Amino acid sequence: MINVQKIREDFPILKRMVNGKPLVYFDNAATSQTPQIVIDAIVDYYSNYNANIHRGVHALSQEATDAYEQARKKIQKHFNAKHPYEIIFTSGTTHSINIVATGFTNLLQKDDEIIVSALEHHSNIVPWQMLCERTGAVLKVIPMTEEGELVMDVYDQLLSSKTKLVFVNHISNALGTINPIEEMIKKAHTVGAAVLIDAAQSGPHIKPDVQALDVDFYVASAHKLCGPTGVGMLYGKEEWLNKLPPYQGGGEMIEEVTFEKTTYAGLPHKFEAGTPNICGGIAFGVAIDYMNSIGFDDIAVYENELLEYGTKRLLEIEGLRIYGTSKHKTSVISFNLEGVHPYDVGTIVDKLGIAVRTGHHCAQPIMDFYQIPGTIRASFSFYNTKEEIDALVEAVKKAKMMLS
Ligand SMILES: *Cc1c(COP(=O)(O)O)cnc(C)c1O
Repeated sequence: MINVQKIREDFPILKRMVNGKPLVYFDNAATSQTPQIVIDAIVDYYSNYNANIHRGVHALSQEATDAYEQARKKIQKHFNAKHPYEIIFTSGTTHSINIVATGFTNLLQKDDEIIVSALEHHSNIVPWQMLCERTGAVLKVIPMTEEGELVMDVYDQLLSSKTKLVFVNHISNALGTINPIEEMIKKAHTVGAAVLIDAAQSGPHIKPDVQALDVDFYVASAHKLCGPTGVGMLYGKEEWLNKLPPYQGGGEMIEEVTFEKTTYAGLPHKFEAGTPNICGGIAFGVAIDYMNSIGFDDIAVYENELLEYGTKRLLEIEGLRIYGTSKHKTSVISFNLEGVHPYDVGTIVDKLGIAVRTGHHCAQPIMDFYQIPGTIRASFSFYNTKEEIDALVEAVKKAKMMLS
């Protein structure tokens, strides 16, 4: 069971006032808040053992290297990867996707096909379009339904011996839909395609098992998982990571350099050129520990309660429409008030101390599907409360009165 009042004590920012009101933070799908234990880890790093890693023999460098590699192991364990070197530290989901998309440039041929879903974040669309431009491969899109679910029959039809890659997010950031990735991965493998799952949104809600999923690539950002910004991970099966070329050249990713020829370092260093976000990686590991200490099963139960409560309360407002009504969804509610621009609602709600996201949520194709400019998105985390949802409902009612 989640003890939300106790958990809230872990997050100093939740004591803040905004515009004279207590902060209600409902923009968790954009970035999560940071518990004190993660903030302490960052301060501890810079106060006590800030040094470059993998290079020095001196004590600080060894301590920093140990902590960084320890964090890699924590992440490996959390995602249940087979080997620590299958976890590549990156700057985040976007960077991770680009490593894979760039890496496939020489592995694709003209008329090969790449399948993405209609529910993708721009960061899981644009790199594949660029890959298609480089290679002459063709992008195919799994369409969505009014409820915000993927049309699986069409997915079946799109799969063929031409399919080389399938990319889908585990959970849609704009609507909260949980996609049936187990089934999608299995089907993709029957035609020999590799699968990349964008777990940026599922990371904070679901504890995954990349080996059980048999997924080829799995990517996430620390900052949506109670960690800092500027760090994330790419999981890849060893055989795939060996097949892909390095993404960037530089220090740390080499074995031997002469002007005639350079040989690359093994995994994971081949993909980690330059000085990484050392402190961020260490803090990522602490954030994973923190989330596990709360417990992902309890988090899921509690967030589902918030989702049901928030859905019911918001629907009490006449003229309010929720986008994304799949039975399989996480604690994201995307909505609009009839005849009112989402931006105007967001502005009034912010004046009352409530942080929601308004706009297209980096998922313009979804907005085009519904023929709307954007939505207001409230996304709940395990440190949110029903009282905060009540405050949101009152604020939206007020906005409605002022705007219509
Ligand atoms: C946030 C998000 C991304 C991008 O993550 P960054 O940390 O900005 O790189 C990609 N996909 C989904 C589904 C997201 O929610």
